[in-house]
Amino acid sequence: MLDELRELYQEVILDHGRNPRNHRRPEDANRHARGNNPICGDTLVVYLDVGDDGVIRDAAFEGQGCAISIASASMMTDVLKGKTEAQARALFEKFHDLCTKDDFDLDAVDNGAGDDDLERLQVLAGVRAFPMRVKCATLAWHTMTAAMSGEDATSTE
Ligand code: ZN
Repeated sequence: MLDELRELYQEVILDHGRNPRNHRRPEDANRHARGNNPICGDTLVVYLDVGDDGVIRDAAFEGQGCAISIASASMMTDVLKGKTEAQARALFEKFHDLCTKDDFDLDAVDNGAGDDDLERLQVLAGVRAFPMRVKCATLAWHTMTAAMSGEDATSTE
């Protein structure tokens, strides 16, 4: 990766880490779960407001952790709004590939509406080189799927 691009990605992560979007507890949330990544000390609570039609009307989180875990939660809660539960799960699958597979090719992904989201999330792909950091980057997503499934808590361990 070009150094300039790498620096840009770091800027985006640091910005989300310092000024996380959707860092709040929504009053209308009807699903939530707690996520814990003991290796790094990241703890998150993800809140979702899911409509009767299965569409996520609001997504937010509270918690503390490293810049990557907070930045990932910040970006995730942004992209989840307006998605169905199925779309959210499908996006997590692709995001997980993005974070773990060296040969992941964004251009080869053909999932229609999800392309723009993956492009935004691509700033986190640098964790690929650091397996411990993959848990930081995916904690919010694991916690989101736990909330969807009605589980109270999830852990990366
Ligand atoms: Zn972390």
